[in-house]
Amino acid sequence: MSDCIFCKIAAGEIPADKMYEDEHVLAFKDVKPQAPTHILLIPKAHYASLNEVPEQEKELVGHLLMTARRIAGELGIDGEGFRIVLNTGPNSGQEVYHIHFHLLGGRAMTWPPG
Ligand code: AMP
Repeated sequence: MSDCIFCKIAAGEIPADKMYEDEHVLAFKDVKPQAPTHILLIPKAHYASLNEVPEQEKELVGHLLMTARRIAGELGIDGEGFRIVLNTGPNSGQEVYHIHFHLLGGRAMTWPPG
């Protein structure tokens, strides 16, 4: 998608503070961190939200999640715990319509979310 900011980051057209990259996924720091660790994980392929991901891409979704878990381990936030968020649609507060997981950690969090 030519006007998608995360597609532009995936294509290297907009800079990002990258944490991990492979053929299918990219992880980079959120520009407005909500916790000491706040990383976004995206597929390089454009899907607006989880609602648009086809069933046959479930391996990609699993790969994103396992990448988030691995990064949490590498950053040493796995022991104390972390939160993974996947906002989907208007009620969730999704702002960028290119599916992304938030990996948040480094502080205690409350529940329920706002
Ligand atoms: P969401 O509300 O789930 O759509 O979250 C979008 C997230 O993307 C927010 O936390 C923003 O701070 C973050 N964000 C937006 N633009 C950029 C960017 N260029 N680089 C890194 N993070 C971004």
